Amino acid sequence: MNETNLEGIGFTSRRTRDRLITRLEAAGIKDAGVLEVMRQTPRHIFIDEALAHRAYEDSSLPIGHGQTISQPYIVARMTELLMAQGRPSRILEIGSGCGYQTAVLAQLAERVWTVERIGPLLTRARRHWSQLKLRNINARVGDGFEGWAERGPFDGILLAAAPRQVPPALLQQLAPGGVLVAPVGDRDEQVLERHWRDGDRFLAEALEPVRFVPMLGGTL
Ligand code: SAH
Repeated sequence: MNETNLEGIGFTSRRTRDRLITRLEAAGIKDAGVLEVMRQTPRHIFIDEALAHRAYEDSSLPIGHGQTISQPYIVARMTELLMAQGRPSRILEIGSGCGYQTAVLAQLAERVWTVERIGPLLTRARRHWSQLKLRNINARVGDGFEGWAERGPFDGILLAAAPRQVPPALLQQLAPGGVLVAPVGDRDEQVLERHWRDGDRFLAEALEPVRFVPMLGGTL
């Protein structure tokens, strides 16, 4: 990909991206670091060329295999929630998809580990990260219900697909003071939840209604 493609023209231009950031601010996103990283990250390279003209709309878009790239507002909101207590150094993400949320996290944390159950999606995501020269991402195909215990504990865990309940194995991989942000519920009714670890106790709060693809077991 050449520089023009990364920079973007027309519907993917800087001005179009700036408008998205203004919209995110109006929607209540306050973390200046998160907003700046999202302004700098070319979302259009993560999606099919036929949809690139919609890359800076605040909506989720199809990425193949029945999956979607998350809506920018929700990427910003979850990242902000994960980082409310300061920048975490080690993050685990479940559901890499096309790798856009991972790319945002990787610019705000020291290192990101990410697990995706659909192999071909991860192959594409890896290509996008190397285009952006992001070298602090470790990814594997696997079942996110198990997390990545060998690499834990993590200061932050983000789920990009909705389980019916937060998997206990993931809570166990939180470091003391660590924060987990996840959509939780069934296909039609989900709530964004934030959990955190206080010693051996886990605390949780429910935040706002959301709509994500379901978290499924097994790998493809
Ligand atoms: N953050 C992504 C959104 C991806 S959609 C982005 O920015 O594009 C959610 C992803 O979670 C899908 O790719 C789906 O395959 C994946 N997923 C669902 N269940 C999973 C599981 N148990 N383990 C790992 N990934 C899972």
